[in-house]
Amino acid sequence: MATFGTLSERLTETFRNLRTKGKLSPADVDGTVREIRRALLDADVALEVVKEFAAKVRERALGDEVNRALNPAQQVVQIVNEELIAILGGEQRRLEFAKTPPTVIMLAGLQGSGKTTFAGKLAKMLAKDGHTPLLVAADLQRPNAVGQLTVVAERAGATIFAPEPGNGVGDPVRVSRDGIEFAKRHQHDIVIVDTAGRLGVDAELMKQAADIRAAVQPDEVLFVIDSMIGQDAVNTAKAFQEGVDFTGVVLSKLDGDARGGAALSVASVTGRPIIFASTGEGLDDLEAFHPDRMASRILD
Ligand code: GDP
Repeated sequence: MATFGTLSERLTETFRNLRTKGKLSPADVDGTVREIRRALLDADVALEVVKEFAAKVRERALGDEVNRALNPAQQVVQIVNEELIAILGGEQRRLEFAKTPPTVIMLAGLQGSGKTTFAGKLAKMLAKDGHTPLLVAADLQRPNAVGQLTVVAERAGATIFAPEPGNGVGDPVRVSRDGIEFAKRHQHDIVIVDTAGRLGVDAELMKQAADIRAAVQPDEVLFVIDSMIGQDAVNTAKAFQEGVDFTGVVLSKLDGDARGGAALSVASVTGRPIIFASTGEGLDDLEAFHPDRMASRILD
């Protein structure tokens, strides 16, 4: 994965230097933590996340577990690994399904973040598991959004619910509600509601998404974030958290050459788990997110 490439190399280099030492002096630990800190900042990881991460690693690396270790350098690598898993959310979090179908999954995010593509990927993945997802086109802002979701639905082999021309056009809340009623009538056990995205966070967009959330009471609200957005990730994520109180995160475009900062910051600053990683333009390029596997990829 190109994402994290430079970060990975720099951490590997840091650990290589560390391994040349036997016992670690406080100065060795400080030097190592400083290098890790710089590597994370250069990878666009949010400052608040880096600070907390560095403080934890430093505290543990100066403590007894390293002092007593047969191989202190290896022990520090282990600590970095554990703390990386922690900022990525700790345990894997799976999608939650409603006790009584349909499960309603609402998508939110900036325009271009990969929301519509993700809607198709998720529908395809769930259909493979025996579900009968319905895609609801509640993005009525962009002229071609409904058309794009229709194409994605076709490729995913999923049914789409879109407003009839002239019937409720322009009212995404109504379309979302009608979509759920349609799902109940036609035995769709999952409803994926694609909402409008704008180029920047804006109040009107947020209110619209919040209105849809209030009206349909989704089981999951997934915030799709483009891994490439770098330092803007934190503010965008916080704005969406405040606006729609999302329940989970989807990292998209992890196949790109992002430096990884967004991926490494978003779970930590919002306290919401990353549930999926989107890794390409094809509809099969979707993976369940595993914090431990992601940490290993970074440290490999
Ligand atoms: P939306 O505006 O949020 O609905 O975003 P789209 O789903 O239309 O995606 C915007 C662009 O990003 C499209 O060209 C997609 O093909 C592309 N895209 C979406 N997800 C991924 C991904 O995981 N990897 C890559 N490389 N491209 C993606």
